[in-house]
Amino acid sequence: HLNHALEAAGMKVVETDLGEYIIQLVNEPPSHIVAPVIHKRLEDIAQIFHDKLDMPHTLDPSEMTAAARSRLREEFFGAQMGVSGCNFAIAETGTVCIVTNEGNGRMVTSLPRVYVAVMGIEKVVPTVEDAILQLQALCRSATGQQFSVYCSMTSGPRTPEQPDGPEQFHVVLMDNGRLRMMERGYGEALLCVRCGACLNICPVYQEIGGHAYGSTYNGPIGAVISPALAPRMEDFKELPHASTLCGACRDVCPVKIDLPRLLVDLRADLVKQDANPQMEEWAIRGYVKAMSSRQLYETSGKLASLSTNVMANLSGGNIKFLPPPLNGWTEHRDFPPFARKSFRDWWRERQKLRHRDA
Ligand code: SF4
Repeated sequence: HLNHALEAAGMKVVETDLGEYIIQLVNEPPSHIVAPVIHKRLEDIAQIFHDKLDMPHTLDPSEMTAAARSRLREEFFGAQMGVSGCNFAIAETGTVCIVTNEGNGRMVTSLPRVYVAVMGIEKVVPTVEDAILQLQALCRSATGQQFSVYCSMTSGPRTPEQPDGPEQFHVVLMDNGRLRMMERGYGEALLCVRCGACLNICPVYQEIGGHAYGSTYNGPIGAVISPALAPRMEDFKELPHASTLCGACRDVCPVKIDLPRLLVDLRADLVKQDANPQMEEWAIRGYVKAMSSRQLYETSGKLASLSTNVMANLSGGNIKFLPPPLNGWTEHRDFPPFARKSFRDWWRERQKLRHRDA
């Protein structure tokens, strides 16, 4: 991570987006690509401001924002170097664009003596028209705005006749696995404009939150990008399964990335790489066998019903402990026993009664 590397080199690093600033105060990673502090309640943030900024307790967001703003203003005036990401870089003019709603992008790009823009190679678009089109799609899908409050465009260091701007302007273009990602067949995901709409609509993200993905990128796009970008795909082998494949992410995506298809492709690639646990493979094989034979299916169901009901009786209700490898489930929640009577048995009995009464 860039912040850690800069800090290890003896520099003080301050995040300037309000959400990023708050989570930096408590040393937490972001949980959403547009709203990094969405996992915290107002009361949590008030406590952080009280503990870290010596601010009197308040639940007034305007007061808290004003306090952060005044701290950040001091940092901006003293900063030697501003570092930003980039929403788009325009090839025909050599311009780097960043959009913000807080104005921090404008300060980072124009106040410090040195400005460094760090971006993935996929951020480069050919023309100004391409950038405007994508910026509109980004703002509408990210926050429902026609356009963000600030759009800062930097095309070079300040010239002698200009009153402000950086003396030095550096652009760092990173591959960092992107070409490999294209070779693996996942280049479509590089079209992502990081609007966050797929996170907002995803039923899995809504339940588990961003931190559960264990990666900088979370939600459906994170479940694709994290393994596809990683040198070892299997380091993120669980993520492609963190989806119901309902397709809501594809429908809402402004650049129409087919996320469910990419997730299925990743699952297939991981199976080919033998990245799934042996136990899981055996379980799937057993399931396929049971589902292919009516007799086997019914016998397995009866055995499962019998064993889980015995265990539930011993626990006095639901099952509180399952043996390995199923204990991962019962570490966090109870396991309900299977129904004592299967649907098929109930149906047979019902049919018998109907014939008898006919
Ligand atoms: S995949 Fe689509 S919806 Fe999700 S963040 Fe990227 S552009 Fe937005």
